[in-house]
Amino acid sequence: MKICFATNNPKKIEEVKSALGDHFEIVSLKEIGCHEELPETGNTLDHNAFQKARYVRDNYGVDCFADDTGLEVESLNGAPGVYSGRYAGEPRSDERNIQKLLDNLDGKENRNARFKTVIALLLGDKEYSFEGIVNGEILEERTGDGGFGYDPVFMASGKTQSFAQMSTEEKNEISHRGLAVKKLSEFLSQKES
Ligand code: IMP
Repeated sequence: MKICFATNNPKKIEEVKSALGDHFEIVSLKEIGCHEELPETGNTLDHNAFQKARYVRDNYGVDCFADDTGLEVESLNGAPGVYSGRYAGEPRSDERNIQKLLDNLDGKENRNARFKTVIALLLGDKEYSFEGIVNGEILEERTGDGGFGYDPVFMASGKTQSFAQMSTEEKNEISHRGLAVKKLSEFLSQKES
């Protein structure tokens, strides 16, 4: 099965390809000739995931899926949440986002946080969604140089390494996106059989 993953983030593509294995052929936005930024203007992860996927389906006529992810920090009342990408403003910067997060948590004892991903899947005119959540905490300082986004400051519950210290496979096994992609994969496999 050939399906477009509607993202411009190469790290996400790497993670999703690794999680889905060879069974599905993942096509990037570039490969379908889409070079523009996808619209993402909603106030919920659900809204944004479907908005990105529908944009690609409606303009390029391909089956596709898109994800949207938020980091929800307990002592910041769930912020940055759906605004995680532009937490420190435009232009988007992982470095400045992390710095703002560490500054806002300075002196706070409760560093509990969770990542949540919503995947919106569009097959023809049918729409489906899958969710993945991982609980953990925000570290006091950046640790590790792999991954992307907030990975250097996020450690999943029960683990001793940040996401940025894990291999793609290790992160996929427990991560928000890994769990959502597992549900997507099971669903697509059933469709095929
Ligand atoms: P989006 O889903 O690409 O809109 O991501 C929103 C924000 O969360 C961006 O700042 C991303 O860098 C960050 N983000 C998304 N997925 C991950 C992840 O797996 N680890 C760390 N940060 C992530």
